[in-house]
Amino acid sequence: PPALSVRDLRKTYDTKVEALKGVSLDVAQGDFFALLGPNGAGKSTLIGIVSSLVNLSGGEVRVFGTDLASDRAAAMRLIGLVPQEINFNMFEKPLDILVNYAGFYGIPREEALVRAEQELRRAHLWEKARMMSRTLSGGMKRRLMIARAMMTRPRLLILDEPTAGVDIEIRRGMWHTLREINAAGTTIILTTHYLEEAESLCRNLAIIDRGSIVAAGPMKSLLARL
Ligand code: ADP
Ligand code: ADP
Repeated sequence: PPALSVRDLRKTYDTKVEALKGVSLDVAQGDFFALLGPNGAGKSTLIGIVSSLVNLSGGEVRVFGTDLASDRAAAMRLIGLVPQEINFNMFEKPLDILVNYAGFYGIPREEALVRAEQELRRAHLWEKARMMSRTLSGGMKRRLMIARAMMTRPRLLILDEPTAGVDIEIRRGMWHTLREINAAGTTIILTTHYLEEAESLCRNLAIIDRGSIVAAGPMKSLLARL
């Protein structure tokens, strides 16, 4: 099955805003996929529904074949989510942040320590493992958010505007880490309003505008049409 399959997804907020007007898309296993669109297009709403933060108004979502509506817990175990806002405790050390996060998901401490070293190395943070997180640079903090999400070994990593408001140097560091994660087999979906980001990272993309998909396909063929 696809990593993500969305069929006729609809969302109308209480305010009557129709944020999604029947969105369908598939993301293949192993893909690096961008959902590109301007502010207000419905990107966060779509990601919010897939990660169970927002209730859908209609349609179907499957994660590796598992229907979100019938087995939400199983679907959620396959997903890692990187929130837009940095939300770890600045007075904890990166190693502790990762190990405690794993503990929350029932991962034994020994295993958590193994994973934490692997994730911190991949994010180029291993030298900072025992520093106070407050002292990390902006880019390091962003990469720590990614490393933390990987502690549960998700098969699908979802990032909502991961690089919004950060400068190009920080973005490049994040891209590097994301590419390594994807190369190791994790499917990645990110939303962005930077075409350049989608272009640099992703193999496939969908363009969303005012709640509808307006184009979808391989990056190369879509770029040729823009
Ligand atoms: P994007 O992530 O592409 O910027 P959003 O999914 O955040 O788009 O928003 C899509 C539309 O839904 C916008 O018109 C936005 O104002 C509206 N919207 C988003 N969240 C809510 C909410 N919690 N309540 C009401 N309207 C919302
Ligand atoms: P920033 O905070 O600007 O993203 P850092 O302060 O983390 O960058 O960078 C520290 C050092 O690590 C720099 O020399 C940088 O070139 C290097 N570096 C940062 N991220 C990566 C990465 N993903 N891959 C390789 N080297 C990196």
